[in-house]
Amino acid sequence: MKAVGINGYGTIGKRVADAVSCQDDMQIVGVTKRTPDFEARMAVDKGYPLYISAPDREELFEEVDITVTGTIDELYDKIDIMVDCTPEGIGAKNKKIYQEKGIKGIFQGGEKHDQIGKSFNSFANYLDNWGADFVRVVSCNTTGLCRTLKPINDLCGIKNARAVLVRRGADPSQVKKGPINAIIPNPPTVPSHHGPDVQTVMYDLNITTMALLVPTTLMHQHNLMLELEKPASVDDVIDLLEATPRVLLVKAGEGLGSTAEIMECARDLGRPRSDLFEIAVWKESLNIKDGELFYMQAIHQESDVVPENVDCIRSMLEMEEDPDKSIEKTNKNMEILE
Ligand code: NAD
Repeated sequence: MKAVGINGYGTIGKRVADAVSCQDDMQIVGVTKRTPDFEARMAVDKGYPLYISAPDREELFEEVDITVTGTIDELYDKIDIMVDCTPEGIGAKNKKIYQEKGIKGIFQGGEKHDQIGKSFNSFANYLDNWGADFVRVVSCNTTGLCRTLKPINDLCGIKNARAVLVRRGADPSQVKKGPINAIIPNPPTVPSHHGPDVQTVMYDLNITTMALLVPTTLMHQHNLMLELEKPASVDDVIDLLEATPRVLLVKAGEGLGSTAEIMECARDLGRPRSDLFEIAVWKESLNIKDGELFYMQAIHQESDVVPENVDCIRSMLEMEEDPDKSIEKTNKNMEILE
């Protein structure tokens, strides 16, 4: 069993901790918190050894009776790899500490590719990160784009990809973020950073993206237009996406015509936190006109990157050489739909 630590037990960190815990080849030996909030208390209740990431704040945990196992300095010696899930920008600073301590580190999409050096997506470049020391799992939007672009590119080649991303303004628990009543071109310039981010894992893809922020918290929504290199039919693409792991074809005609209804369906699946790890592609949106493929998809931003973090651990710690086998194992243990 490989020993995994989570630095930053927040939205992504707590999900990765649970995903690692249900695998049979790795285990969580500690999670860190900076603030003694409900997530810290729940980590202890769940049985995760809790370490303080800012040792000078130990008193704050004592004051509210949250039992800690130690400080982050004591955790470094116990782990093979740290999955850094701290807020954007902090991971890159932590990289220097992991280097000094001689441990491997996985970072999240809020960090810049150039600062970490390598980026990861299970389907696009698993083996390129084999044995690597520091790797960034690309963001929720980039993961969502890769999940469908990679198999389509393999099937018929993509000459030119364009995507318009409608992004959720905030996660459901973020009470201080907006917008509340506006649609914000974000950025108001073209292209957005998402296209270059896809190219950190699908190196040769010709892709241009634009992005907007809207007042919703549930999911991101993407609109894709792909000029294909080789002819394909809509049925070919449907068959392909139906057979692609971590992609779900959903039907607006069956009451899944919006992100709200898709998340209602996710709640009905009865998974922890009502997460939807799969990318939902609207079946009715698939169309091909003059050699250009169109489709729309929805991304549960809080959870789609979680199985990728598990596969990234296997690649970096050289635990499974076949990407498909890692993906299958992760999916089976997390009960992700095939
Ligand atoms: P979050 O704010 O929900 O959680 C961050 C956790 O880190 C919190 O528990 C916080 O207490 C802790 N923390 C804060 N400062 C710290 C420090 N200096 N050292 C150690 N821990 C500290 O953040 P999140 O949404 O989970 O985002 C984490 C990373 O994942 C970011 O890079 C983000 O861009 C990326 N990401 C987020 C989402 C999403 O939708 N939330 C999706 C994909 C990727």
